[in-house]
Amino acid sequence: MAGQKSDWEIRSRSEQCAQCQAPFADNEAFMSRLVYDENDGYGREDYCQSCWSQVAAEPALSRWQSVFRLPPPPPPETVKRESAESLLRKLVAGDEVETHANTVYILAVMLERRRLLVEKDVQFREDGLKVRIYEYRKTNETFVIPDPQLKLAELEHVQAEVVAMLAQGGA
Ligand SMILES: [Zn+2]
Repeated sequence: MAGQKSDWEIRSRSEQCAQCQAPFADNEAFMSRLVYDENDGYGREDYCQSCWSQVAAEPALSRWQSVFRLPPPPPPETVKRESAESLLRKLVAGDEVETHANTVYILAVMLERRRLLVEKDVQFREDGLKVRIYEYRKTNETFVIPDPQLKLAELEHVQAEVVAMLAQGGA
């Protein structure tokens, strides 16, 4: 497994249709697809409903519908602390997904339970890797998270590790 550097980057949703370039309106339903290319890794494309009808039949790893939300205003300055979200973002941005696959997966599950992430799809890559495709509810960002398929006993162990990492805080 080569593990392309770009494989696990967070895929932001665009502000406009990939085809007609029309900007999305607040609360507009739009369609997204995830494509995978051996050289370029994952790519995400967002389409308005009418353009989607022209591309819907093309091959894609995953497709889903979302509702566009205008980005919220920046939050007021708060005390910085390590949260499950910031830790997940740090590991994904630092290209540490594969070294910390168990931790990354547990963080995603924690955020899903807190309804911050929504699971959109589950896929098996050609190399057999199971990946879960999550969307961050507030921003429609895509997180592609490998599922290490932990057994129950391992799950408890990893959860304890993650709780410890969050308690260390810092950042
Ligand atoms: Zn369009």
